[in-house]
Amino acid sequence: MWDSPFLKEYGIPQRLLELGREVDRRTAPLVAGQEALKAHNQLKVLKALQDVGLGEHHFAGTTGYGYGDSGRETLERAYAAVFGTEAALVRPQIASGTHAISSCLYGVLRPGDRLVAATGKPYDTLLGVIGAGENSPDSPGSLRDLGVDYLEVPLAADGKVDRERLLEALDPPTRMVAFQRSRGYSWRPSLSVEELGDLIRLVKARRPEIVCFVDNCYGEFVELSEPTQVGADLAAGSLIKNPGGGLAPMGGYVAGKRNLVEQAANRLLAPGIGSRVGATLDLLRPLFQGLFLAPHVVGEALAGAIFAAGFFSALGFEVSPGVDERRVDIIQAIRFGAPEPLIAFCRGLQGGAVVDAHAVPYPAPMPGYADEVIMAGSGFVQGASIELSADAPIRPPYIGYLQGGLAREQVKVGILLAAARLSNEGLI
Ligand SMILES: *Cc1c(COP(=O)(O)O)cnc(C)c1O
Repeated sequence: MWDSPFLKEYGIPQRLLELGREVDRRTAPLVAGQEALKAHNQLKVLKALQDVGLGEHHFAGTTGYGYGDSGRETLERAYAAVFGTEAALVRPQIASGTHAISSCLYGVLRPGDRLVAATGKPYDTLLGVIGAGENSPDSPGSLRDLGVDYLEVPLAADGKVDRERLLEALDPPTRMVAFQRSRGYSWRPSLSVEELGDLIRLVKARRPEIVCFVDNCYGEFVELSEPTQVGADLAAGSLIKNPGGGLAPMGGYVAGKRNLVEQAANRLLAPGIGSRVGATLDLLRPLFQGLFLAPHVVGEALAGAIFAAGFFSALGFEVSPGVDERRVDIIQAIRFGAPEPLIAFCRGLQGGAVVDAHAVPYPAPMPGYADEVIMAGSGFVQGASIELSADAPIRPPYIGYLQGGLAREQVKVGILLAAARLSNEGLI
């Protein structure tokens, strides 16, 4: 791409283009190292779709109640195969990752039960769900409001799960232990599937009846297996992140043990009706096609993230994961240390967006978040973060979280433009 006449049209300073070419050359072996993993996941999905007997008639979709929707049932069987679970719930009616996760929490937990968060403070939007937010400790309808007890096990100093304190938290009435695979808006390392498997074994050895739940957002198809294949009873995520492959226009999924998935469905829909209703309209084709493309698209996002890590660390910024660190999700965090460079980064990155490239992102209050949040990078699906995007709560130490990109070249252009903006504003 470095000799493309179109790249020259962006007016990026020559020294940044030269640095980009150099970073690209240096990181090529790391990107090549991801190929085997991508192939593994691509074949896994291909095989799953073939094994469930996907046919043209599965794209028809239903209206109204959505009774007898064979396309929906086939899609859910394909997800169950991919995640190695007994069952899955894959629905456009799930509005977001938060909604998928909260269906699991409300579906499984009962008054008097305790929920334990094993990976420190959960993702911002879940604090209101749990009733653990500083601003909304007793938000009406939160788990706490309904009588579910909550205990957070803070991460150890190295950012890993504190095994001792986790073990101490397992006595009754603990009913569920929730793990967050991806870092969320924090500097901690994301959890690998291998580490998750270890931790789940630790919990199960002490109390096998505890439900191990994983917030799987941003982790799908980044490793060889999924948390549900190393012992997690239930996992959930968003279709406008990894598993929708950039084509799913909305939706979320839940995968796990059949009885637990059905409990989440009872909460999402209604007890007694459960997973048997829910029209799919014209959405089945993009949901199937998105699942099929997901490993490829995740590969593009990872190639972009590796470039971003290389480029911004070459500019002197601290990045996590480091350039050659093993990747277990698609997030690339960059620490800016002050609000100005963080905001300039997001504004520059917006120039790489395929939709609304000329928009100027501003920090703003967002539903579910305590701090103002800046969000850059618009795509074909509103808020889809499998598309090139960067976001950050405006709070110290001012970390920008970059993720997604349906094509690696687009991520590179976005990163170069972000650096160009920092340079124009005299911040690098
Ligand atoms: C994105 C995300 C969620 C849920 O996000 P939505 O914006 O509601 O889809 C939950 N947990 C983590 C770790 C996430 O990255």
